[in-house]
Amino acid sequence: MHELSIMSEAIRLAVEAAAGRPVRCLTLRVGVLSGVDPEALRFAFDVAQQNTVVAGAELEMEIVAAVCWCAGCNQEFATGRLLDACPRCHDLSGDLRRGRELEIASVELI
Ligand SMILES: [Zn+2]
Repeated sequence: MHELSIMSEAIRLAVEAAAGRPVRCLTLRVGVLSGVDPEALRFAFDVAQQNTVVAGAELEMEIVAAVCWCAGCNQEFATGRLLDACPRCHDLSGDLRRGRELEIASVELI
């Protein structure tokens, strides 16, 4: 499972950040176009946290909506795809500004 290796890496980074202290909450930032399934991430967290300082911690996810940039209009527009037409001028834009995030937002220690 793709999500399990992602979560194992996120937990490894959180363990490093915690430097031996227990973690209360791990927050991930997940873009809607990041290609991972938040539910699968949650399941992977339950599996991968065992026997680490992250065991028993909460998993929070900030879901980031996808936004494209239209150079013609000099404006962002909401999208659900990597390549989409600007709703104002209908030009295609593949300049995705947000929505592919997959990173640790914060590690809260006890
Ligand atoms: Zn436009």
